[in-house]
Amino acid sequence: MAIERSMSSSGKSRRDSDDGWETRAMASQSNPKKRLLQEGRSGRDPLTARQRSELMGRISSKDTKPEMMVRRLVHGMGYRYRLHARELPGRPDLVFRPRRKAIFVHGCFWHRHPGCSANRLPTTRREFWQHKLDGNVHRDRRNKEALEEMGWHVLVVWECETKDFDHLANEVRKFLGPR
Ligand SMILES: [Zn+2]
Repeated sequence: MAIERSMSSSGKSRRDSDDGWETRAMASQSNPKKRLLQEGRSGRDPLTARQRSELMGRISSKDTKPEMMVRRLVHGMGYRYRLHARELPGRPDLVFRPRRKAIFVHGCFWHRHPGCSANRLPTTRREFWQHKLDGNVHRDRRNKEALEEMGWHVLVVWECETKDFDHLANEVRKFLGPR
């Protein structure tokens, strides 16, 4: 919940609501320290916000690079989401609760993207890798089925698909529908 609030109060949506901005601007004139705190927290400067996400991406193992790209894209398209909803099967990477839609961002190697060049078993310890990666695929399928049984719609974005932003933006828009 806290994440959802912080996402929706950053960047675009704030500029869209003039009233809120004016109130904040007036408040900040009377209290420079408060203004600094607010700016620091909400990331008024888009470059700073981006730098911060990139920093987060390096720090947290959950924030793999393809996932950050999808987040940035989806956020830039104006959709709001939650991250890693613990209570949902498979902890989807992006969760759009009011729409009952969830996005997973999968690494092509780790989740065995069918037909992808990155989906190749290492030549050493093949049995180990086969077992491990097939386990991932099995788990992914189970999670997707569980979500669908709960009435959720699921989109899987593959790592290799994050290289074509236009195509990905189309897929995301088709999946999520109008803002
Ligand atoms: Zn792939």
